[in-house]
Amino acid sequence: MISARHAPHEKMAFQLTLRRRGISDQAVLRAMEAIPREAFVEQGDEGYAYRDAALPIACGQTISQPFVVAYMTEQLQLKPYHRVLEIGTGSGYQAAVLSRLARDVVTLERFRFLAERAKSRLAALGCGNVEVLIGDGFDVPDSAGRFDRVIVTAAMEDIPEGLLRHLAPEGLLIAPVGPPSGSQVLVRLRGTGDGFERTNLIGVRFVPALPGIAREM
Ligand code: SAH
Repeated sequence: MISARHAPHEKMAFQLTLRRRGISDQAVLRAMEAIPREAFVEQGDEGYAYRDAALPIACGQTISQPFVVAYMTEQLQLKPYHRVLEIGTGSGYQAAVLSRLARDVVTLERFRFLAERAKSRLAALGCGNVEVLIGDGFDVPDSAGRFDRVIVTAAMEDIPEGLLRHLAPEGLLIAPVGPPSGSQVLVRLRGTGDGFERTNLIGVRFVPALPGIAREM
């Protein structure tokens, strides 16, 4: 599935960058190697797919920087039996990486256009354990159930109470928290049974999470 346009040295340099920046979990590195990022960028941007940079996608959104995708995935400490919820499907790239490391992935996107495109890309790549839903991360339906891991890939000013209700006891949630424009901090919450233990990880920059289903597309 990896296109011939990408010379092996480009993919090797990609792995080296991730390692140099501190990603050491072999399963995460293998997942990053297995998922062809060029299948998730906009047409014409394939040549930039293995640079460690975020890129613009449709609907004014972005596909995250590979290091941040790998870092968040590593910090989630996934087990093969985990059920994972992602808020902010975007291109579908992060969901594809998660799909290699967890049992099931449910990913929510507020733009119908992005959700549908991600769905067909994930199907084409054989990521059969990912469910893409049009939905609002601020209003996840009760029917979605509980998840061992929750990953938010759009910046939130606060982590909504409603989202925490979907986290299994002793589960982990990772989200960029901070103002919509500017930088945010990646926050990890670990359920302790009677509350949450909070760890501030690294500074990041994500597009803002917006409430409601998008009307435009
Ligand atoms: N994880 C993506 C990058 C996400 S960009 C990837 O791998 O490509 C952030 C995405 O979150 C955007 O597509 C945006 O539309 C979506 N988003 C923003 N607010 C949301 C909300 N309330 N519910 C669901 N998705 C949301």
